[in-house]
Amino acid sequence: MPTVQTVRGPIDTADLGRTLMHEHVFVLSTEHQQNYGTGDWWNEEERVADAVGKLNELAALGIDTIVDPTVWGLGRYLPRVQRVAEQTRLNIIVATGLYTYDEVPFQYLNRGPGRLVDTPIDPMVTDFLRDLRTGVADTGVRAAFLKCVVESKGLTPGVDRILRAVAAAHRETGAPITVHSSAAARTGRLAVQVLRAEAVDLTKVVIGHAGDSNDLDYLRELADAGCLLGMDRFGLDRYNPTGKRVDTIVALAAQGYADRMVLSQDASCYIDWFPGEARAAVAAAMPNWNYTHVPTDVLPMLRERGVTEEQLDQMLVRNPRRYFE
Ligand SMILES: [Zn+2]
Repeated sequence: MPTVQTVRGPIDTADLGRTLMHEHVFVLSTEHQQNYGTGDWWNEEERVADAVGKLNELAALGIDTIVDPTVWGLGRYLPRVQRVAEQTRLNIIVATGLYTYDEVPFQYLNRGPGRLVDTPIDPMVTDFLRDLRTGVADTGVRAAFLKCVVESKGLTPGVDRILRAVAAAHRETGAPITVHSSAAARTGRLAVQVLRAEAVDLTKVVIGHAGDSNDLDYLRELADAGCLLGMDRFGLDRYNPTGKRVDTIVALAAQGYADRMVLSQDASCYIDWFPGEARAAVAAAMPNWNYTHVPTDVLPMLRERGVTEEQLDQMLVRNPRRYFE
């Protein structure tokens, strides 16, 4: 039986059930929270209870698993996620990797092959492998996939280095990969180019945020390369409104691409990019960007438009399972 690591430990991939492939529990920088949050916008107990409530609501709507690509750069801190996982039946799968649009963090900048501190292996790879094989810090929680970014700046030296480090960890472990891409800049192509050159199995790659694009030629090109398309920002209407995202999925499903799409919202129980009072402003600006938009609104819209139960099952259950097997 193939298994996949979750925050509570390994489960059979057959038990993943309906899976949202890109949701954050907490996006919360330690430095930000420690310096400006405490006594102001951050209350640990309230936020943990709030997250438990949101995940339980999602579970009650028929979702079984979320895949959380929160890594360094977004504020991964697993003890807090463990507290949440203990209080919900929802499975949470976590990642290793790095989130940056440009340079690598200083903690890696001058260490590595040919750098000031010359090491045979990029220490980033060593750290990713530790997260995948042993567990993150002393939590005992193992990451199950790798996360990297190619934003509109493209393949900067830092971004390129991270992609190649992620590819190396993938080759060693078989762990699948999720790339945050910019649909506007078509950077999914750049990710495919580097990952292909690095001998990555492209069927184990999600091009995250591909669904911000309605360019069917671009999307089919990525899917034909083997990648899964992350139709994963439902509710982020500023990038692409729900109606258009639905149109694009309907079109691709009709052309036989249901086996190349996964669904999600890219929501967070709490995101410190919008702390304190900024939360209300962002909720007013993007009311659909919430934790239940896909099961509550999107799935009924897809059904209404003729997407079959079999195709929905493919996108929500079988594609995520295949990705982790
Ligand atoms: Zn995200």
